[in-house]
Amino acid sequence: MIHLTLTGYHAGVPYCNTDRAQAREAGDTMVHGIYAPLHKPEYRARCCPACLQVWADEAYDDTDEMPDWVRELRDNGPDDIATDDTRSYGPHHQARK
Ligand SMILES: [Zn+2]
Repeated sequence: MIHLTLTGYHAGVPYCNTDRAQAREAGDTMVHGIYAPLHKPEYRARCCPACLQVWADEAYDDTDEMPDWVRELRDNGPDDIATDDTRSYGPHHQARK
């Protein structure tokens, strides 16, 4: 799993605030969120869902143009993350253009 991390003063801290030592032990990797190729669905599939949720909530202002997957995460909200939600970015997803 890939955790997205902050840059700047808190550089290296995962968005989801997981324990870094434990994450490394589990074989997880850390990538700076702003450099991660999050536009690629196959890359997002390997990312930590909690980190992606924080990214979706924090990286854009409400008035910004944002990718559909970010909109979807923001609409769903963080509560869906902890459930056994089987929704995915599948064919049900309508592009909003
Ligand atoms: Zn994470």
